[in-house]
Amino acid sequence: MTTAPRPIAKAAVLDPTDLAPSLANSRIPLPAGVRPFQLNWPYIIVIGAYHVLALLAFLPGYFSWSGLILAIAGTHLCGLFGINLCYHRLLTHRGLKCPKWLEHGMVVIAMSCLQETPARWVAIHRRHHQFADEQPDPHTPLASFFWSHIGWILVHQPELSRLGIYERYAKDILRDRFYVALERHNWLVWINLLQMPLFFALGFATAWLSGETPAAATQTGLSILMFGVFVRTVLVWHITWAVNSVTHVWGYRNYETDEDSRNNIVVGLISNGEGWHNNHHADPRSARHGHRWWEIDNTWLTIRFLARIGLATDVVAPNAHLAGRPRGSRLTTRGTTGVPAE
Ligand SMILES: [Zn+2]
Ligand SMILES: [Zn+2]
Repeated sequence: MTTAPRPIAKAAVLDPTDLAPSLANSRIPLPAGVRPFQLNWPYIIVIGAYHVLALLAFLPGYFSWSGLILAIAGTHLCGLFGINLCYHRLLTHRGLKCPKWLEHGMVVIAMSCLQETPARWVAIHRRHHQFADEQPDPHTPLASFFWSHIGWILVHQPELSRLGIYERYAKDILRDRFYVALERHNWLVWINLLQMPLFFALGFATAWLSGETPAAATQTGLSILMFGVFVRTVLVWHITWAVNSVTHVWGYRNYETDEDSRNNIVVGLISNGEGWHNNHHADPRSARHGHRWWEIDNTWLTIRFLARIGLATDVVAPNAHLAGRPRGSRLTTRGTTGVPAE
């Protein structure tokens, strides 16, 4: 585990921590080139359909307690391993290393949550750190809360469509041939389509083997499909999106960073640690986002466990300089992508 102190950005004394919602501070326009009515129809249709199917899962014909438990467990496991640990802390910020088989396996889990390919997710998130809460942050709530939560995904953002974004932000990711293949062969779509019959088959086979009629087993299969895929995906989406929206508006600040990031208790708990977002902007490389003892960070606990059994190495601990800085001192966090220089 890395323990050597890492330098932090320059500090200057500011007013005491501000707990007020940040939206009142100022408004900024949408990123350059965005036309609110240039809609991204494929995303709108898929996201809309998933929401409708997720709601249908709660109708009497489809609802099952086993499905609901599967959706909740799947939300936490896929969100924790796929999005938090792999896409965010490992690939985006290089806060740890894992064996390639494990890293690639977690990427497949992340892709089953229908949140972009690894290169694109990483590129967008590094851009967010570099320009957080100023132009051209891809999803700041200073443009509007709706924009930061989901609006930014539903319209065409020219800056995010250029190939240059990969060159600028995700060159390291695309050195791995596995990730290049995922981009080239549209595996994001294939993984999400393939998991549907798998979940149906899991439900059908379990019910049929336990003596249910084919008709009843089909119903169980559909229930497991609806909860295991659509409800889970929608829940993971909104938890990830809440980190972009809620934790830049509501919550407290341990660090006076130069953007509006906040630590939000609700998002911190339901996202398994990603909601301690002010801590994260203050120290993006750290694999641990919960800095106070009560800021529960299940993703960090999982990384610590993986390190103990030899499946995580080069784990980056919180910056020792942060704890010793003067209270209220300002941290410059913009301008870097939160990833080590190559
Ligand atoms: Zn942020
Ligand atoms: Zn980050």
